[in-house]
Amino acid sequence: MRTIDDLDVAGKRVLVRADLNVPIEDGRITDDGRIRAGLPTISTLRERGAKVIVCAHLGRPKGEPRPEFSLAPVAARLGELLGAEVAFASDVAGESARTTAGGLADGEVALLENLRFEPGETSKDDAERGAFADRLAALAELYVGDGFGAVHRRHASVFDVPKRLPHAAGGLIATEVAVLERLTEDVARPYAVVLGGSKVSDKLGVIDNLLGKADRILVGGGMVFTFLRAQGHEVGGSLLEEDQLDTVREYLRRAREAGVEFVLPVDIVAATAFAADAPHDVVPADAIPADRLGLDIGPESGKLFAARLADAATVFWNGPMGVFEMEPYSHGTRAVAQGLVDSGAFTVVGGGDSAAAVRRLGFAEDGFSHISTGGGASLEYLEGKALPGLQALED
Ligand code: ADP
Ligand code: MG
Repeated sequence: MRTIDDLDVAGKRVLVRADLNVPIEDGRITDDGRIRAGLPTISTLRERGAKVIVCAHLGRPKGEPRPEFSLAPVAARLGELLGAEVAFASDVAGESARTTAGGLADGEVALLENLRFEPGETSKDDAERGAFADRLAALAELYVGDGFGAVHRRHASVFDVPKRLPHAAGGLIATEVAVLERLTEDVARPYAVVLGGSKVSDKLGVIDNLLGKADRILVGGGMVFTFLRAQGHEVGGSLLEEDQLDTVREYLRRAREAGVEFVLPVDIVAATAFAADAPHDVVPADAIPADRLGLDIGPESGKLFAARLADAATVFWNGPMGVFEMEPYSHGTRAVAQGLVDSGAFTVVGGGDSAAAVRRLGFAEDGFSHISTGGGASLEYLEGKALPGLQALED
């Protein structure tokens, strides 16, 4: 894959596909991690005299302009972090975008409005996507793909624009891919994978593929109850995906056969309701009362998980161990994060909520080898799928 070092960008208009899909509440950015992750590439291009035109998406506005999904607050934050003005175009590839991009001097930066305000961005129809890609590509002379969180999408800005302009991978994508290669090729062992989060169905593909690669799979979070149920235990009102029970049983069987260790929690924090102030107790994982729901792994499980990480050489973690957004159910996630930090292993945190959890619980980012900006993208890579945005950059 070509990188920006291979491009002669001085004086050129460079379209950068970034991932600036940050959480916004009441017009305020609550976690600017993804904006920060995109800074090095933008800064390097500025220093080398490029006219930098950044494009990105925010949320799911479904192909039409919706003010609550405007990238305007992101333009302001990007400007603060860069210490430079960021010109903001009020459309994606229309009059404002053309004027804004055309008005840039060398080293200046513009941000286009939310890509997903245009139906062509996400269209399944090649011609509709292509027509939008033509308009986007016309704004620039070069393309840099750096939105790792979107590389698993066959979207115009990710997949079709690089076919229309000389292109290269930005620093973020180059780093993310190098990390993922360490999780898939010549992996240092023992290789432990920690999976959590809300839905088992999101993570089945990755479990399927990792059953042939990981030495240990530790499971927590909302998905654990489908595993516990598959083993015949009561799970009360906890999250449960009945339609995945057979698949999960099959994975447990395959793991035994392949000698992959599945580590499930031994205790659970079970509450009377999905609320921070609901009465809650620690109960054995095989005896969750029928009128309770499990909202975190318990303290013994936290110790067990940390112990199974302590001697690992490689750890990949995706998905919080509990409802970390509420303090009483954040301890399992904290224990696992601490387990990664203490392990001395090559540690990778993937997933938007997992990355947010680590920061929210006060862990320093440099306690981990890498915090990925792309949850879905890193999972699909680990599933062994080809990612359209990476393929397009390689061509
Ligand atoms: P990521 O974004 O890191 O991939 P997910 O999106 O899969 O993670 O899951 C994150 C969500 O899972 C969090 O909002 C968290 O509250 C929720 N979660 C974790 N454990 C539970 C549980 N026991 N019950 C309900 N939700 C849970
Ligand atoms: Mg998530």
